[in-house]
Amino acid sequence: MSEKFLPFALPCIGEEEINEVVDTLRSGWLTSGPKTKRFEEEFSQFIGTPHALAVNSCTAGLHLALEAIGIQPGDKIITTPYTFTATAEVIRYLGAEPLFVDIDPNTFNIDVQKIAKTLETTTGIKAILPVHFGGQANDMDSILALAKQYSLKVVEDAAHALPTYYKGKLVGNLGDITVYSFYVTKTLATGEGGMITTANPDYAKHMQALRLHGISKDIFNRNASDVPAWHYDIIAPGFKYNMNDIAAALGIQQLLKINRFLQRRTEIAEQYTQALADLPVRVPYQHPDSTHAWHLYVLQLKLEELKLDRNTFIDRMNAAGIGTSVHFIPLHLHTYWRERYNFKPTDFPVALDVYQRAVSLPIYPSMTDADVHRVIKQIKIILQN
Ligand SMILES: *Cc1c(COP(=O)(O)O)cnc(C)c1O
Repeated sequence: MSEKFLPFALPCIGEEEINEVVDTLRSGWLTSGPKTKRFEEEFSQFIGTPHALAVNSCTAGLHLALEAIGIQPGDKIITTPYTFTATAEVIRYLGAEPLFVDIDPNTFNIDVQKIAKTLETTTGIKAILPVHFGGQANDMDSILALAKQYSLKVVEDAAHALPTYYKGKLVGNLGDITVYSFYVTKTLATGEGGMITTANPDYAKHMQALRLHGISKDIFNRNASDVPAWHYDIIAPGFKYNMNDIAAALGIQQLLKINRFLQRRTEIAEQYTQALADLPVRVPYQHPDSTHAWHLYVLQLKLEELKLDRNTFIDRMNAAGIGTSVHFIPLHLHTYWRERYNFKPTDFPVALDVYQRAVSLPIYPSMTDADVHRVIKQIKIILQN
């Protein structure tokens, strides 16, 4: 009578997505074309920002963003160790250095007080790269105030934050450049993909050229009648970071469902929080300035009250047919980052502590109430033994 395995994450693909992809396949236009343009227009409308640029990953978008703000070798960028490596690796692409700053123990976002201290004592810092962890916004007013005071740019890793409101404003309208991920586990999935938003037309123009080999078609706009259709100019050694129309077809239909998806994830989060609050765990903290996109639901085990560790908990969930995950293994524990910067595990004590207690529960729109109850029931069985 063993139940089917409940995966940790699943994309929510319906007939609408399938039909839009089939339409793209029949159209004969597979690379960046009309669907990508439409997805960009609809995304920029949804966020309420003038420029949205589709790319083939969030990682690519973050790389373009750092190029656009003029990051040079040796520059320093403040970011969080409690993230996926993509956030920090793009800094290294440019020969710049990440300056990791420990996180807030409640939101798991970068600790703004510690950013302020770092800025007082360190020179050469050019930007702040916060991650809206799990789908909850950073303290953006404080981050933007520090950026203004020290003339820094702010690039937001919004891979978890579609959609997230900060003080009533959608993330994507706050810092200089914001980058989203449409990786298969994210709240909008195109398989692989990402989107950049900015209100700055110069950044937008620069990133638009760089995302496709540094090709500039500006010459067409200026003098459309005398320039032949085959002509183009290369203005930089650009990249191959454009989104294709098959991915954009998925994106168009997923975006239409984004608020419905959010509503379902919010319901699941509320059910978890209500059912688990009395157990030896900490349920996610919700900051009053931010809504939560609920890309992740991260439970913190109160290890001092339990006879088991986090890994055993995950093994037991797995044995009961329930997938979970850990967000994140802090970057300073990974070989590359540890060796490059000589980190000790205790260099970021909050990130280390949060990591040791963290378990991400499944939370996606296609989960049924029965699935949610099954997860809750199994957690109770494990923790009450
Ligand atoms: C998923 C993720 C990324 C990378 O997104 P891709 O689209 O796979 O490049 C970057 N940052 C964070 C915080 C992520 O979770």
